[in-house]
Amino acid sequence: MNPQFCTSILAIALLLGVAFATLDDAHNAVPFSYNGELNGTKHWGKLSPSFQACESGNHQSPVNIITSQALLNKTLGPLYTNYSGAADATIINSGSVIGVHFEGYVGDLWTEGKKYSLKQIHWHTPAEHQIDGKIYPAALHVVHEADDGSVAVVASIFNYGRQDPLIQEIKPYLNKLAGPNTKGNKIPIGKLDTKYLRQNTQRYYRYRGSLTTPPCTEAVLWSVLPEFPEIITSASKKFQIYRNSSVF
Ligand SMILES: [Zn+2]
Repeated sequence: MNPQFCTSILAIALLLGVAFATLDDAHNAVPFSYNGELNGTKHWGKLSPSFQACESGNHQSPVNIITSQALLNKTLGPLYTNYSGAADATIINSGSVIGVHFEGYVGDLWTEGKKYSLKQIHWHTPAEHQIDGKIYPAALHVVHEADDGSVAVVASIFNYGRQDPLIQEIKPYLNKLAGPNTKGNKIPIGKLDTKYLRQNTQRYYRYRGSLTTPPCTEAVLWSVLPEFPEIITSASKKFQIYRNSSVF
């Protein structure tokens, strides 16, 4: 499919396919990894009947976004969110990603006339989506779910640079997730302020893809932010270390 693009408000749409961590991958019973000889990405589709989409899906994520092929879509508006204040949260090492799950209602994302409620955020190192073939050090995925169960993810791709305030906020807890056998470990962290999340973005790539980890479920609405925020090198490496310390 050809990508779509739009600019009166600089919203961009890509009709392709990509991937992220599932809403409940912390509880995923079937072990998988990124590089394992038996359960790495090439084998995900065979690990479980429920993972078939990983192998045979038509709209799988992540994707390499070719910016010259993106089509401007003037019907898309800005990504509007109403995240509000601080909310109780739990930091989780799922084995594949480090994430923060919010307890209860913390606000919504509105896009294409539909409301998606913010559920959790997590980081990938390196970023899963590529821009014109370039691999970036890290990405933050902000995961939302609608009342009908459909999922919308906003991906912010990070480059190396100055400190990210959100990572600084949770840094004290990250060390507690390091070490062997930490998959599934959860730490309640009290109130986490949603002000650290970017809001009402006017420029993004849009396409319909999938979860990027098993079960690779499709029909995920992706918004990929091409304005690269920054992440400190040490933080990116820590996420990598924490992920790798988990037992898949
Ligand atoms: Zn993800």
